[in-house]
Amino acid sequence: MKTKIVFSEKCLNYGGWHVEGPQRVKMAHEVLKEKQYEFLEPTPASEEALLKVHETDYIWNLKKGLVEDPDTPAYDNIYEYARLSAGGALLAAEINGFSLMRPPGHHAGRSGAALGIYTRGFCYLNNVAVAVKALGKAALILDVDGHHGNGTQEIFQGDGRVVYVSLHRYPHYPGTGGFSEGNCLNFPLPADCGEQRYLETFDDALGVVDVGRFEVVAVSAGFDTHRGDLASLGLTEGGYRELGRRIGMLKKPTFFVLEGGYVGEQNGRDIDQFLRGVEEKAV
Ligand SMILES: [Zn+2]
Repeated sequence: MKTKIVFSEKCLNYGGWHVEGPQRVKMAHEVLKEKQYEFLEPTPASEEALLKVHETDYIWNLKKGLVEDPDTPAYDNIYEYARLSAGGALLAAEINGFSLMRPPGHHAGRSGAALGIYTRGFCYLNNVAVAVKALGKAALILDVDGHHGNGTQEIFQGDGRVVYVSLHRYPHYPGTGGFSEGNCLNFPLPADCGEQRYLETFDDALGVVDVGRFEVVAVSAGFDTHRGDLASLGLTEGGYRELGRRIGMLKKPTFFVLEGGYVGEQNGRDIDQFLRGVEEKAV
């Protein structure tokens, strides 16, 4: 069955000049529309759902727009945009779908910038974490964005029900993820390592995880590992299809939340190939 895409045009209404701008999602949406995907509109996450992940003070500041850092502007109404993106992750978790929403989330920790890093890397609320906490199930989080998800690691570090696995370019922004710590398994890779090495590393990563104990797989689906993108590891559309197959082979309820990927049309094609790979192997 074809994976449903969670999307609202509202997420295109801010931040036109930034690298994390609307085009990256708008163009992806157009490509996926042409490929006949079905789209569902999210509703904003409740404050209660956000507070399972983030500190009250941080949410308060976000509402007031007091969250600017050099990467991550305090746009007008950013709280509402971020809340809708978190709501996208919640809906994706409910229907095993793919949330094609912005802003992304995996650099946002409990109180903003995570693990001693000074910026939030275009993130406001940790969408995947909000969805995993809401489900309350034993979860395997696979972070395939090209950057380390320092926010997600901070939130789930030491959580006995969650294992976080990240493959990412290193050394690179945010500078964390050079080694594994407890339930957070990090697989740093050199720039443009190529998809063969990437996929071998992904197999190694899954090899050290007891997949059977998890009730759900949550994927932080970033596409900035694409050759030439912001955290390139030299992947192509074919590599994303292979990656999707490996995730489908886990045969678990799985949902996907967009993180990075900065070339819109390319994101659309990569997401399509990735989901085709998942569906080829899924139950
Ligand atoms: Zn990224």
